[in-house]
Amino acid sequence: MTECPECGRAVQRANLIEGEIFHCPDCGTELEVTAVEPFRVEAAPHEEEDWGE
Ligand SMILES: [Zn+2]
Repeated sequence: MTECPECGRAVQRANLIEGEIFHCPDCGTELEVTAVEPFRVEAAPHEEEDWGE
């Protein structure tokens, strides 16, 4: 178990895979699963459709 980096809500791994993006049920922040063993999440970068050149 880990916590949302934004609001501190406990988030549990629920059929999530590494690299998956999901929304925190409390604050709605986009979170990215950065590792599953141990389970870790980070706020997903807000990438717009602008990858630069
Ligand atoms: Zn949150």
